[in-house]
Order: sequence, then structure tokens, then C-alpha cells
Amino acid sequence: MTHGAPLSLYNSMSRAIETFAPIDPKMVRLYSCGPTVYSTAHLGNLRAYVFTDTLRRTLNWKGWPTTHVINITDVGHLTSDADAGDDKMELAAAKSGTTIWDVAARYTRLFKDDLRALNIVDPAIWSVATDHIQDMIAFAQAIQDAGAAYEIDGGLYFDVSKVPDYGRLARHGDGPEIGRIESVAGKRNPADFAIWRRSAGDEQRQMEWLSPWGPGAPGWHLECSVMSLKYLGLQFDIHTGGIDHREIHHCNEIAQNQAFTGTAASGANIWMHNNFLVDRTGKMSKSKGGVATLGALTALGVHPLGYRLLCLSAHYRSELEFSLDAVAASLTRLKRLVIALAALKAEAALDDAALRPTREAGASKGAPFDWQRHALEHGLSEAARAFVARFDEVISADLMTPQALPVLEAVMASPLAAGEKLRLVANFDLVLGLGLLDLDRRALSVRPEDATLADAEVEALLDQRQQARAAKDFAAADGARDRLKLAGVDIMDGDPLRWEWRPRLGD
Ligand code: AMP
Ligand code: ZN
Repeated sequence: MTHGAPLSLYNSMSRAIETFAPIDPKMVRLYSCGPTVYSTAHLGNLRAYVFTDTLRRTLNWKGWPTTHVINITDVGHLTSDADAGDDKMELAAAKSGTTIWDVAARYTRLFKDDLRALNIVDPAIWSVATDHIQDMIAFAQAIQDAGAAYEIDGGLYFDVSKVPDYGRLARHGDGPEIGRIESVAGKRNPADFAIWRRSAGDEQRQMEWLSPWGPGAPGWHLECSVMSLKYLGLQFDIHTGGIDHREIHHCNEIAQNQAFTGTAASGANIWMHNNFLVDRTGKMSKSKGGVATLGALTALGVHPLGYRLLCLSAHYRSELEFSLDAVAASLTRLKRLVIALAALKAEAALDDAALRPTREAGASKGAPFDWQRHALEHGLSEAARAFVARFDEVISADLMTPQALPVLEAVMASPLAAGEKLRLVANFDLVLGLGLLDLDRRALSVRPEDATLADAEVEALLDQRQQARAAKDFAAADGARDRLKLAGVDIMDGDPLRWEWRPRLGD
């Protein structure tokens, strides 16, 4: 059962907004291209998962249960899309002097930590590429049997001329992109790509498996075809990835799916792509020691959910320009919300259960956020329901999060009773995932890694300042304030926190 406005989503395949109609309304099937676990995810990568999380939360909130699969690419992704260069994983292992397996385990763990810090709901299935090698060999064999693959020295290659309309997703046509992949001798068409990469000569890779085409490793595109179709069926609802994947990776997945099923179907009804987080300031650049990762941002004193709010403040199909100022502004916006919520909580004196309904309290037993939504909306006033309708309308319009946030802020500023406001915020946060009910001012005040004062010293200086002020010794009071300021501490008179760390975002 779905509720409210019809959900419309932009389909990269048709390049149009379409009304979402699930294949099976009882279970919407969703696949998201996952990370290659050879280094820490950068903030751009994480934008991709905030997007898929918003999509998944919205589907649930609108009443559809979902099966969400994210893969972990721990083999096969080359340093270039052009089937050339080294395997990213092999390279990372060589650099760090550990094994590929160690590299994969480490960065998988760090990736999941980042997702947790961003309140991203775990997928139903994490599918790890190296757990599916036999499936991949069987799939590749089927493609070869269908006549859409051929063997050359480098391994088994996909013949893109054997499928209808190759590259349609990217609108390749005969454009220059199609000639990009040309570095391998023996290929029939420039866009042909490796399904199975045979180990060269007597080279032994750390990760290699026996196959009908000799020892080697699967191509990266093969992994996603195999794992998405295995868990979600030959045609599922939505496939997501960053906009870069629209050009090659997803075109190749589609070609493989077509060859495998012997149809023109792409494998997914809707292909969705998030635009990039771009960095014109160079602040993200790792080589310049920049703020490329969530960990680096936290080290400066920015709570991870400040970054989530930054992501939500732009539409997923727009480029989002990264700057420390923008992150700081998002953090401030989040703090304002949390301060206002604390006042509301004190005023409404609702018990926690009213804002965190259990499954039993919900009228519907379907999707995870759906029954919570039902319980939270039960008995709302007409004015409050109008806010729900507005929120539903904008989020259902291709996930317009930049317009959904002001609806939440309008609720806070409205004359509604405190209890209703809280229930609306709890409800909208099921979609936004900011954890608004769990956050407080203390949690949002993150100690920068290079902070010099201990908390006790800050408190002592604050007390000194207070005593100096009481004694009307304003010079001493200002002195204490200046010392704190220099140490990166902001004094907040009239705030129960009294002080907090200022994120180190200045140039
Ligand atoms: P990768 O680990 O390189 O396969 O990337 C993981 C995900 O992040 C993919 O969906 C990419 O398309 C996406 N991605 C990579 N760079 C960015 C960026 N700067 N902004 C947004 N998404 C990105
Ligand atoms: Zn993929």
C-alpha cells in the first residue's frame, strides 16, 4: 500500500521523470553499485550512498518494503575504465605491504563505519564480489555460449555488436566515447570489454581463480551483473550509481544482462544516478592533505551528520560543490534544529515511545518506516497534516530534499503545538535520516583532533571568566575569553552547553 502523492523518479534510461510503479508492490528490489575497497571512501563516494539511502527510506516511507543490495568490489576494478592499468586492489596491497584480503577487510570495515556514522540503513544484502566467483564464471560461460563473447590473449571479451543498442544509457551513439576502450590487441570493437581477465604468462595474481579461459579474475562489470540478477531477479526495479557509471560501467552491465537473458531488457526498470560532489577549492584533494574523507572532516570538528545535511541540501541530480564554508553552514543549520528540538522536547514532555513508535503501534505492518509513519500521523490536526502533505509532495517529486528541509524548518517555526511539531519532525526524519531525535548539542560538538586544551581546562577558564565578570574585572574576563578563542573554543553565554569547539575550518 502506498500513500500520498505518486512517487516520480528520474530514469537515466529514458532521460525523463517517470511515475514509479514497482514490479512487485510487496517488495521493491534495489541494487546500488558499491565501493571498490582499496582505500578509504572519499566524501564524493559517500554522497552516492546518502542518495541511495534517501531513495530507500523514501520508498519505505511511502509504503513499499525493499530488498536493497550493495556490492563490495574486492577484485577486478582496474585503475582505468579502459580495461587497462592494474587491479586497484592488487596495487593497494603492494603499496601497503599487506595482502589483498587484508586491504579488502580493512576498507570494507571503514566503509561500513562511515555509512553508520551517516545514519545510512544497512542493505538487506552486502554482496562481496569474491564470494561469487563461481557464479561469475557460469554467467560468463552463458554469455559465451550465447555468442556474445570471444577469447583473445587477454581473456574473455564481450562483443558489444551482439546486443541491441549498446550504450543507449549513455547515449553513446557513434560519439567519441565509444572509441575510448581501445588499448587491447585483438578486440573486435573499440567498446568491447573484458569479462574475464586471464593472468598474463607466468604472472600469478594474489587473487586469481581457475576458469574455462585460464587462471584469472573477473571483470568489474561482470560482478554487478551477476550479483544484481542473482539476488534481485532478471528484471528488478531500480539500479543506482554515481553519474560516472552511466557512461561505461552500467552500459556494460546492461549489455551483459541482455546477452545473458537473450532479451533487450536492461535488467532494471529504472536507472538512477547521483551527480558528483565537486571540489573547486582543492580542499578535498588528498595529495594536498585535504579533507577528502569523513574521518578528516570529523577530525576538524564536524559531526558526520553535518555532512549528511549538506548532501540533502542539494538535489541528488545536481552537482554539489564542496567547500568548508558549506559544511560549516550545514553544521550550523543542524545545530539550530537540534537546539529548537531540545526546547520542544522540554515543552511537550512527550515520552519517547510517542516519538519512536513500535511496530505494534503502527496501523500497517509493511515497510519499516511505514508503520512508524502511520503511528506518528495518527490523530494529527489538519494544520499538521497539511505539512505532511507538503513534505510528501516534494520528496515524491524525484526526492527533492532541498525543498523537504525547509518544510521541516517551517514546522519548527509554525504555531503548532510542541507535541505535534515533534511528531512531524520524527516522521520526516524517517526519510531524512538526520537522527534528529537522537542528537543533542553535546553530540554535535566534536572535539577537533588538534585541540590543545583539555575539557577541564576550558571549564576552569570559563569559571575564571565568570568570577572576573562578577567582580567587574572586565579586562581579566576578556583575557580568559581570548585565551579560549585562541584555543578554538567558542563561549556561548545563555546556552546550557556554555562552550563548544569551533570546527577548524578557517583558511
Ligand atoms: P567507486 O568505489 O569508485 O566504485 O565509487 C563508489 C561510488 O561513488 C560510485 O557509485 C561512484 O559513481 C560514486 N562516486 C565517485 N566519485 C564521486 C563523487 N565525486 N561524487 C559523487 N559520487 C561519486
Ligand atoms: Zn556496479
